[in-house]
Amino acid sequence: MVQATESESRKLLRRLRAAMAEGGAGQERLDRITHLIADSMCTEVCSIYLFRDNDTLELCATEGLNPDAVHKTRMRLGEGLVGRVAASSQAINSPNAPQEPGFRFMPETGEEVYSSFLGVPVQRLGQRMGVLVVQSKDARRFSEDEVYALDVVAMVLAEMTELGAIIGEGSGMTPLHKRAHTFRGLIGQEGNAEGHVFLHDPRVVVTNPIGDDPDVELERLRSAMDTLRVTVDDMLEHARSSEGDHIAVLEAYRMFAHSKGWLRRMEEDIARGLSAEAAVEKEQSAAQARMNTVPDAYLRERLHDLDDLSNRLLRILTGQGRDTGAERPEDAILVARNIGPGELLEYGRTLKGIVLEEGSVGSHAAVIARAWAIPLVIHAERITSEALNGDMILVDGDQGIVHLRPDENVRSAFSDKLAMQAQAQERYASLRDLPAQARCGTVISLNMNAGLIADLPSLPGSGADGVGLFRTELQFLIRSNVPRRGDLARLYARVMDAAGGKRVVFRTLDIGSDKVLPYMKRPEEPNPALGWRAIRVGLDKKGVMRMQLQALIRAAKGRPLTLMFPFIAQFEEFIDARRMVFEETEREQKLGHALPERLEVGAMLETPSLAFAPRQFFQMADFISIGGNDLKQFFFAADRENERVRRRYDTLNVSYLSFLEQIVRRCEDTETPLSFCGEDAGRPIEALCLAAMGLRTLSMRPASIGPVKHLIRRSDLREVRELIDTSRADGCPSVRPAVMDWLRSQEWEPV
Ligand code: PEP
Ligand code: MG
Repeated sequence: MVQATESESRKLLRRLRAAMAEGGAGQERLDRITHLIADSMCTEVCSIYLFRDNDTLELCATEGLNPDAVHKTRMRLGEGLVGRVAASSQAINSPNAPQEPGFRFMPETGEEVYSSFLGVPVQRLGQRMGVLVVQSKDARRFSEDEVYALDVVAMVLAEMTELGAIIGEGSGMTPLHKRAHTFRGLIGQEGNAEGHVFLHDPRVVVTNPIGDDPDVELERLRSAMDTLRVTVDDMLEHARSSEGDHIAVLEAYRMFAHSKGWLRRMEEDIARGLSAEAAVEKEQSAAQARMNTVPDAYLRERLHDLDDLSNRLLRILTGQGRDTGAERPEDAILVARNIGPGELLEYGRTLKGIVLEEGSVGSHAAVIARAWAIPLVIHAERITSEALNGDMILVDGDQGIVHLRPDENVRSAFSDKLAMQAQAQERYASLRDLPAQARCGTVISLNMNAGLIADLPSLPGSGADGVGLFRTELQFLIRSNVPRRGDLARLYARVMDAAGGKRVVFRTLDIGSDKVLPYMKRPEEPNPALGWRAIRVGLDKKGVMRMQLQALIRAAKGRPLTLMFPFIAQFEEFIDARRMVFEETEREQKLGHALPERLEVGAMLETPSLAFAPRQFFQMADFISIGGNDLKQFFFAADRENERVRRRYDTLNVSYLSFLEQIVRRCEDTETPLSFCGEDAGRPIEALCLAAMGLRTLSMRPASIGPVKHLIRRSDLREVRELIDTSRADGCPSVRPAVMDWLRSQEWEPV
């Protein structure tokens, strides 16, 4: 019985392929397909509904229903039985459709005479494309094998839709991958870019969904599986010998690669007429559909593994994928599911923009993109399924929006925006050698944040007074092993050389929380942001910090050296860390190394507790730098990585500004130099208010220096301070509205 049905479905697929090969316009092909499915399955009706837009299905072809309803009958996702199939991605098989809950009667189709209904989703890799339906007058439930056969046909239809083979000319609908698409993701790095897609890992396109000879296809699948198993075993062996911590993932890969169930299901699909590639993709689609519904995180991860493994198998079968020789466009915008810092560094800063399907604001890739000022949008869901190499793409990093294959209107609006930005950049460049002196005469020192050697060429061009924050952990993050002291010393020396005598504030290793070193074991913590991180690690595991201090002293070779400790929460921690500096200087001196001509040791104020430290702390610290990113998250108890709460609290909230003012006062009392180096320092309005609250040194990413300087130079800080004081006295929650009104009255426009 199964054998008979298998050959039926094979026959059907073969007829389908022959029908496709006949050519003709899109509509003609669709009509031909519905006719032959109805004929093969002995049903009176076969209809194809495809998505017009994200939530409307349209009847695109039918055999048996009223032909006048074609391209007229539409339904919303979830509406009627067809809408339900699409929304749930599940087949509906009913002997008595009109009695099914949600049945929607559509008089124009004349369908009331049909009792049985079988609808299956047309989908590809979790992407809904439409619904394929057969109906008949007699009240019968379709057999499992019939459901299966229709499912396989739907899959082939999805493949063909994907290839633009059945929609397009004549159908009034645009093939997928030609349509304009807007993705709403999250901001990873501000800025705008226009360019062409370059896929980090191009999708495999299956061009032969129907197999010619099942024996040949089976052989191809088995041989590809053998290759896959060898690859996974090799990867696992390598990971074990280097103690990589992705061993667990590879173990799961191996389990799947040897899974009999997986192979058996694919073999069954081949027996029913699919090609080896299509059989792999059918399994992959099923895994993706499950991935979207499974609530259990562990299971989702495993389905993810299966998805990755399927991609590998497809690459083996087709020879497509990574390293396809696709040429990187000059204005490449990198599109990837996710990317590691090492891979991103290989692409270099010539990328115009980056769009990730996953990622997080605190991911290492985001840190690098930010350092390079490359616009980055993260959480652009499904972009890797939609984008093709060479597609036109616009990245609006200011709003976290991506326009793929934009239409003319969007393109021209975007070009205007880019032109305005270019004009502003020119204006900022003309200020490069001028001081950030406000109209009241106060001068603000503007510095840049850095962390990679690649950042340093920006120093002369940015007009920065120095490097206010050098995040030393980036060098640790982009490597696969702990760097050696000699390497670090050479690197820090290069940083100082590039700074050409300007002050560079080296922050000692700030790992933990979201910054995870791949080669360092760390404890499972319930809340890593409040856990074992930064100076806490440095003081507990002294070896690495000592090595880093030695490298810094050696790099200075007698030049002035400035360093600061991250995340100091109490005076004692600063005392202990500072003691280590002196111990290391003594040691280095004994070893005959030149000591820095001047040594400044500062602390980052990133926890509210430190603002209330004893006066002696403020006296002892050579300087203090406010790490606003962390300070703000702890002040408001709002996770900086959690998009839900991150934006809830305004930096210009009066309580926060009053708190900053207290820190300014305490530092003034003890004459301790104070700076601010969180992201807010690089936002012009925030920077202006910080300056008005008494901060005289700000450190930011290089691209922000121009806009911040421009605003400060045209403002009188006393006026801003008055506005802030009035807002506070009036009990306003935030000073932002008053400052914005004032800026508008000054005819200042944000770019
Ligand atoms: C900060 O917290 O403001 C800061 C500058 O440190 P990081 O962003 O590296 O935690
Ligand atoms: Mg911090």
